[in-house]
Amino acid sequence: MSASPRNVVNQVRDAGRTQVVIIGGGINGIAAFRDLALQGVEVVLVERGDFASGASAASSHMVHGGIRYLENGEFRLVRESVRERNDLLKTAPHFVRPLKTTVPIYSFWSGLLQAPMKFVFGRKGKPAERGAALIKVGLTMYDLFVGPTRRTPWHRFRGRAASLRELPRLNPDIKFTATYFDASMHDPERLALDVLTDGIKSNRSAHALNYVEATGFTGDGVTVRDLVSGEEFALAADVVVNATGPWADLTNAALGTPTRFMGGTKGSHIVLDNPELVAATGGREIFFEHSDGRIVLIYPLKGRAMVGTTDIEADPSEPARCTEQEVDYFLDLINDVFPDVAVSRDEIVYRFSGIRPLPASDESNNAQISRDYRVVVDSSRGIPLVTLVGGKWTTFRSLGETLSNVVLDLVGAPRAISTRGRPIGGGRDFPTTRRARGVWLRSRVPGSGTRGSVLLDRYGTRAAHVWRVLEDHDDVPILGDRLSTWELAWMVDHEHIVHLSDVVMRRTDLAFTGSVSRELLDDIARTLAKFLDWDDERTNDEIAATIDELRDAHGVELDADLDAEAAHA
Ligand SMILES: Cc1cc2nc3c(=O)[nH]c(=O)nc-3n(C[C@H](O)[C@H](O)[C@H](O)COP(=O)(O)OP(=O)(O)OC[C@H]3O[C@@H](n4cnc5c(N)ncnc54)[C@H](O)[C@@H]3O)c2cc1C
Repeated sequence: MSASPRNVVNQVRDAGRTQVVIIGGGINGIAAFRDLALQGVEVVLVERGDFASGASAASSHMVHGGIRYLENGEFRLVRESVRERNDLLKTAPHFVRPLKTTVPIYSFWSGLLQAPMKFVFGRKGKPAERGAALIKVGLTMYDLFVGPTRRTPWHRFRGRAASLRELPRLNPDIKFTATYFDASMHDPERLALDVLTDGIKSNRSAHALNYVEATGFTGDGVTVRDLVSGEEFALAADVVVNATGPWADLTNAALGTPTRFMGGTKGSHIVLDNPELVAATGGREIFFEHSDGRIVLIYPLKGRAMVGTTDIEADPSEPARCTEQEVDYFLDLINDVFPDVAVSRDEIVYRFSGIRPLPASDESNNAQISRDYRVVVDSSRGIPLVTLVGGKWTTFRSLGETLSNVVLDLVGAPRAISTRGRPIGGGRDFPTTRRARGVWLRSRVPGSGTRGSVLLDRYGTRAAHVWRVLEDHDDVPILGDRLSTWELAWMVDHEHIVHLSDVVMRRTDLAFTGSVSRELLDDIARTLAKFLDWDDERTNDEIAATIDELRDAHGVELDADLDAEAAHA
């Protein structure tokens, strides 16, 4: 077994300096980290929670061009997003797949006059109801943006009868449906981890530390605190990058450089265990305008229906939570689109919420705040402080490159290689057809049955390595084909596991799919205890903390009183 992630913290502490410190291990900090590591730059990333546990864990799981942003005139962003989406379908096919998306449409003309006014005169206010003609114009433009890198089919319109034949549970009041393709990212936290791992593997002087917080500025670097040991230490650097997303202003304040760059809004989702609703979607994302003009979605994912999202002003110093009013809103929108599918609150197995890292804006309509990003350099205090403002999931690679270019200039280092087209983690040589998948499973994880398939979905082609570890040890199932003891050992060795919640919320989809029981938590915790040297007190603390987090942040109630020892016996 290799050392725990805390040994890497000690190594960084003992070295005491690096070229670049990146604060924030969401997807954008991680993307910049990988890019800089690949250029041979010494870089340390510090993340105060787990990697990809902030806004990056709260997305709608879409890798999308952002058809909606056309309406706001953000053509540059749409062009970049579509290109990145198409690239990710090739570089990360293990986690990014084409997503068939259908828009139910209730009128022909509505919104057509208002929309050009918005483009041309910058008209503000509530988005107009989007009728078929406007959606047709938008989708045609969207298709044209795809250009020669097209990896997905052109959009298609259907009349009422044909639409209802395809999706018979749709609201019969529809006049048309429009169907186009974007991409789905079904395991964002795992994709982020793959990008991070690629960065670490590429450069011996690239280190990434989770549960380490940047707490202040020293004049020639930052102070950081290891949130596991409580130890604080200084880390000198030539450049500090603030990639803390919605918390960018709070971080700059902690570094003694107050800014007012950010104006993030909260968005929530619910996940429902309702097979009828999942079936009603016909396996597609249903993407539509709700009565308040917001674009919302119902999205079949992992055998569940994910429903989102809201767009509400938020204070990043408070935890983002999905409220009961938001749940009402979601149940209402489901009823609008699939009026005869019965849905109840009891079927919600998971809720999640996050703050979008949007720029400060005086825009009265949150949906119209720019989704584009920018990089701000402040060289007034000795070493440069580089702040990232904005940035979606979809554009992480190009954003990482842009941010890295600014840093390379500041440290006087050349760009050695580009990340464009570079396979990500287990996306390398990933079998994308059913036949290729069968061949891969038979040749690389022979005799593994459905367990091999689960591993291939979770790790991409790195599953072959995981399987060898399981075969070489006395591996015992913890949850059927979905989890086993030596898989946890592998995660401890390779995936920066510090807390029990890392496993259930971000390394697996157990929490997302509503598969966590109190007994399962106990079993995972006691297995992790062996590999991470936790004593009974630490193990029980981990279980209690995870139960609290599942309840408070995700609306999941587990039996907290169950005696851990008794449950395990
Ligand atoms: C509801 C919602 C839906 C979305 N849907 C989509 C979508 O479908 N597609 C898409 O492309 N984008 C989507 N986005 C946008 C996307 O998720 C975010 O823009 C992106 O994840 C931001 O990543 P980031 O790395 O900049 O920020 P974050 O992921 O928030 O990372 C910042 C990190 O900084 C850490 N941090 C803060 N302070 C400190 C400190 N002092 N020291 C150390 N670490 C610190 C935080 O813990 C956090 O992990 C959505 C966002 C939301 C909220």
